[in-house]
Amino acid sequence: MNAAAELLAPVFAQYPLSVTSASGVWLHTADGRRVLDLYGGHAVVALGYGHPGWTSALSGQAQTLNFQSNAVPLPVRERAAARLIAFSQLDFNSVFFVNSGAEANENALKMAFTLTGRSEVVALEHGFHGRTAAAGALTWGAAGKWYGFPRPPFDVRFIARRDAAALAQISERTAAVFVEPVQGVGGAFDLGADYLAALRRRCNETGTVLIFDEVQCGMGRTGAPFAANLYGVQPDMLTTAKALGNGFPCAALLMTPRVARAVKLDALGTTFGGGPMACAAICAVIEALESEQLLDNVRRVGELIRTRCLVGPVQGFQGAGFLAGLICQRPARDIQRALLERDILTGTSGDPQVLRLLPPFVLQAAELELLRTALLEIGP
Ligand code: PLP
Repeated sequence: MNAAAELLAPVFAQYPLSVTSASGVWLHTADGRRVLDLYGGHAVVALGYGHPGWTSALSGQAQTLNFQSNAVPLPVRERAAARLIAFSQLDFNSVFFVNSGAEANENALKMAFTLTGRSEVVALEHGFHGRTAAAGALTWGAAGKWYGFPRPPFDVRFIARRDAAALAQISERTAAVFVEPVQGVGGAFDLGADYLAALRRRCNETGTVLIFDEVQCGMGRTGAPFAANLYGVQPDMLTTAKALGNGFPCAALLMTPRVARAVKLDALGTTFGGGPMACAAICAVIEALESEQLLDNVRRVGELIRTRCLVGPVQGFQGAGFLAGLICQRPARDIQRALLERDILTGTSGDPQVLRLLPPFVLQAAELELLRTALLEIGP
């Protein structure tokens, strides 16, 4: 490790890669390798690297107006909100822009407590919601490992995923249920339409706010605008980030009219959230998703992952679209290493058997064939 690298807090295990530039779905390294990126920087790079529309939107915005706070009305911010709500095709009429997934989740929780006056939150086993005090408290396995705070800021109850009987634990004491409709870190684990519909019904019965965390599975990654569309379930709030900015840090909390009515002046706040650069990035992402029909591509090539990649060590699939979990008969970490030796970057997950693919939405069938060939070469 070089001296400058040692200045960085050593909190992340490092891939053995020195990336100097990238284009499309390809990373270029200092030692001259071209690496196929099927991980997209943890689900962030939706449009691929060097996307011309996104690049020119950001450089244009940087030249015109790089920043003004939320106290100053900005057309680009209003455009980003309007485009995001229209893109969602869901019953939302209000957006609060922030900077990260965890921050969006914290604000969603605040609104759920404000609306209900209750103090318990239900989350799902194996869910991941971020590393801050509130989001970390809802993250399965954080307590006792990396949580780092003396106690959670409210009561948290974890229930088993896809277990309809466990929904009875949601009660009149429950302010909110927090759920990733397709769990990301949990292993690209899709909860399915029936379970999510039952969850919606139970929340209606108990007056509980249903919050979808689509930080990882949203913005087209499942082939639908949001997993809420894919499964036909309308949440009261939805958070999204990652692909939203294609690498420019940003996140959003979307609210239904009922939730939006409870937002009072100064109830929420942020300095950088909704800044013009972030909003220009969001507009450019949505423009590209729509004009280049990238969701169609996610559905088409996502289906090919299932039909072409059930080879070598892969025994099965879970997930949806480009949040794909390849269930392996050997530890996913070993397969990830073997693939990287063959210049293909993939991810692991909280499930040791599941290799996670989070490719840019521009991935083509011919590039996916390289994964199939490598898996065949690796063998069972
Ligand atoms: N929620 C989900 C589903 C995530 O996957 C993540 C990050 O991986 C987060 C929340 C936290 O997002 P951030 O790291 O932007 O705070």
